[in-house]
Amino acid sequence: MSTYTNFNKSLEQRFIKYAKIYTQSDPNSPTCPSTLKQKNLAAVLVEELQEIGISDAEMDDNGYVYGTIPSNTDKQLPVIFFCSHMDTSPDCSGENVKPIIHEKYQGQDLVLPDDNHIVIKLAEHQDLKQQIGNDIITASGTTLLGADNKAGLAEIMEAAAFLMKNKEVKHGTIKLLFTPDEEIGRGVDKVDLKKLGADFGYTIDGETLGSIEDETFSADGATLKIYGVSTHPGFAKGKMESAIKILAEILDSLPKDALTPEATHQKEGFIHPVSINGQVEEAEAHFIIRDFTDENLVSHGRFLEETVKKVMTNYPKSSYKLNIKPQYRNMKQVLDQHPKIVQYGIEAIERAGVVPKQQSIRGGTDGSRLSYMGLPCPNIFAGEHAFHSKQEWVSVQDMEKAVQTIVNIACIWEEKG
Ligand SMILES: [Zn+2]
Repeated sequence: MSTYTNFNKSLEQRFIKYAKIYTQSDPNSPTCPSTLKQKNLAAVLVEELQEIGISDAEMDDNGYVYGTIPSNTDKQLPVIFFCSHMDTSPDCSGENVKPIIHEKYQGQDLVLPDDNHIVIKLAEHQDLKQQIGNDIITASGTTLLGADNKAGLAEIMEAAAFLMKNKEVKHGTIKLLFTPDEEIGRGVDKVDLKKLGADFGYTIDGETLGSIEDETFSADGATLKIYGVSTHPGFAKGKMESAIKILAEILDSLPKDALTPEATHQKEGFIHPVSINGQVEEAEAHFIIRDFTDENLVSHGRFLEETVKKVMTNYPKSSYKLNIKPQYRNMKQVLDQHPKIVQYGIEAIERAGVVPKQQSIRGGTDGSRLSYMGLPCPNIFAGEHAFHSKQEWVSVQDMEKAVQTIVNIACIWEEKG
């Protein structure tokens, strides 16, 4: 059976083409996609999908790209989708990206030509140690690279082109989904599940070669409002209760050596204030609450409320309102009910000659929300490293393994179906 190889360098050519298209998303924009320029890349992807024979490829009004690789087997199989996102992070400029290929990397520090202060040092990027002899792609020093997640796009497109061309490679119906605005947490807000028409899928948006992530945080958001008592400051004795000071006291009462991002790692959760705003009369704080189990998440929310109540007893004329809302949930709870999805993912990585690393992420993915929308969806490596920064890099050889993994997943579901 044919195996995917990047013999004519089409993989890096595709990646470089996508990386040069400016697709930064904008959290302050209310539209979907948040920036119109993301549709420029979507249009390129649709055109390329049609060129390889995916005739139903289309971009919808919200900038989502859909396409179908038809089944070429008689077996009745589940419909699998592969998903990557088109936007890049607003944390670092993505305008005028100039990708550079550093061929046959030899362990040297990579100095980027457009800003000599930006150096990708082997000592600070431990994963580079596994890349000796490989071809590394970086940006030029003034922007991010956008391998997060254009590496994933290039890999899915290469796998799609391979499957469309090599008809002897058997698979069921494969759906492709490219989303806008993942970096601002809206990647699946407007996804049309009916149009997608899949049973489960895989996001191709992970970091290190061989990684498969089946566990994410469970996440709540909390809004705390304090209603104080305002008076003229010259006549405030015994009357004023400043909402600003009450809120400050609450924040100061939260633990500093635990339950906070600065003091936690691995499977530990936290309560984290992300913004405050206030006057004497009224003050407000937003928090994110994270943990790997829903029970812990609930107990952190309760702990926050207890802390608030304790401080409020010192301010009898003031009041508060605490509103806690779910954001996303640990995908493991869903994936554990469908163990083959991760098992076959692991087998696909092994068949590509790579040691699989099953791991958890201290964050969320599009897959965390898709899993709860009824589409179980672990995250597979795309090979992106040091993302959201000017030091971002990806290796062509890792990307090639990701393409093989995608193809293998399609084949394994057919073989075992
Ligand atoms: Zn990403």
